[in-house]
Order: sequence, then structure tokens, then C-alpha cells
Amino acid sequence: MMQQLDMNSEEFKAELVKTEKFTDKVCESQGWVYSANEDVNEGVTLGLARHRLLFGKRFCPCFMVDPDESRPGKFKSSDDRICPCKPAIEKEIPETGICHCQIFCTPEHREEQIKEKEAKALAKEELKKVEEDEVSK
Ligand code: SF4
Repeated sequence: MMQQLDMNSEEFKAELVKTEKFTDKVCESQGWVYSANEDVNEGVTLGLARHRLLFGKRFCPCFMVDPDESRPGKFKSSDDRICPCKPAIEKEIPETGICHCQIFCTPEHREEQIKEKEAKALAKEELKKVEEDEVSK
């Protein structure tokens, strides 16, 4: 089931502001931080806002949401994930440092992500230099 939602509507924009406050609070209360990948964080936040408007709850954006047969008019997540979800709290973040959707992580995991990004950027620069040297030979 795919419902349409106008992401430019005032309603959506207001929900997005609420969702950003919500994710800030999740970080605060769980001792988590946002991942270093801002594009992912933005996408997940939009997804949470979208689910809240479409289905009434902040169901995880990475899992399907279906009508709840036992409660007409209500919905459920295919993996019973409402943010912040139990699997992230109990398993994913303690064991891997990051939640399934990759928005929330431990401060240590974020540090590692940043280091990895820097190393990749450096490697890219090195490669560029080697290529430039080759061309100028
Ligand atoms: S995996 Fe869990 S904690 Fe992470 S965004 Fe989805 S519902 Fe929230």
C-alpha cells in the first residue's frame, strides 16, 4: 500500500520539525548520537515523519507497515519496529554500534565513521595526485 503525501505541505513541514525534536530526544535519552552520514540521517528523519502522518506512529522507515488485521483502522510494522525500536536498543547498537536504519549510533561508532571518511578522502586525493603526475610526464 503506497499512499501519497505532499512533502511540501505545511502539515509535513510541521511534522518534520516535531520528528527532528523527537530524534534529538532519542539521542539524549539513549546516550546515542547521529551517524556521520548526514544524507542517511535526513532520509530516515523524512521517513519517520512520513510514517507518523500516514500511520499515526513513528514506525521504522526501513520496514514495511501494514494494516493491523486485529485492530481495524490501525497499522503495524512488519518487524514490530516503532522508533526507537527494541532490536536497536537491545541488540543492534550494543552489538554493532549502529541501528538498522543507520541514523543512531554510539559516539565511538561515529568517531570510526569520521575516521573512515577522512581516510577515504585522503586516498582519493593521493590517487588524484598520482594521476596528475602521470599526465604531466
Ligand atoms: S532501526 Fe529502530 S532505532 Fe533505528 S530508525 Fe529504525 S526504528 Fe528507529
